Amino acid sequence: MTKYYILFGPPGAGKGTQATAMVERYNLHHISTGALLRKEIAAGTELGLKAKELIENGCLVPDEVVEGMIESEFRTIKGVDGFLLDGFPRTIAQAESLDALLSKTGEQVTATVSIMIPDAMIMERIKGRALKEGRADDASEEIINNRISTYHQQTEPLINYYKNSDKYHEVDGTGNIDQVKESIFAVMDKF
Ligand code: AMP
Repeated sequence: MTKYYILFGPPGAGKGTQATAMVERYNLHHISTGALLRKEIAAGTELGLKAKELIENGCLVPDEVVEGMIESEFRTIKGVDGFLLDGFPRTIAQAESLDALLSKTGEQVTATVSIMIPDAMIMERIKGRALKEGRADDASEEIINNRISTYHQQTEPLINYYKNSDKYHEVDGTGNIDQVKESIFAVMDKF
């Protein structure tokens, strides 16, 4: 049965970094809605143009936009044991829509792996990443703060959503890359 893992956590928790190790070990296809959106922006598509301003202000793009991206990845990617959703869902509406989509084929979310770091560490991690990756939405403290509050208001309620269905597994994201990776593998090895 196809596995559907959600990689959850605040911005800067290290989701992208850990995703690389996870997809390799468990033969998963990595879907990062943020990376897909950045690709649309770089290609100058209509969708990219619409998403650009929202992303560069630290706001979320509309649910339908990312839901469509997820559906199309599920439909087109074959030959993997499962999918690793990174940065999706980010709202309760997106989580409900994911459940509805999977239930059409009698499937469900396998587990949510949450990488947790305190707010104080978010800023520091993102500033480090900005020097390496040059993302426009990593460029100013104001935008980063906006993303942190967007996370608390719109995304954090998902913790209870997945706790309620016993799918929530949290790891401590404050250690180094290898320590966090081992904690994640310890959770994933159970599924
Ligand atoms: P990320 O690379 O996951 O940090 O995403 C970068 C930005 O893309 C976010 O700050 C949002 O503006 C947008 N984005 C990514 N994923 C989603 C999502 N699931 N829902 C809405 N907006 C998203």
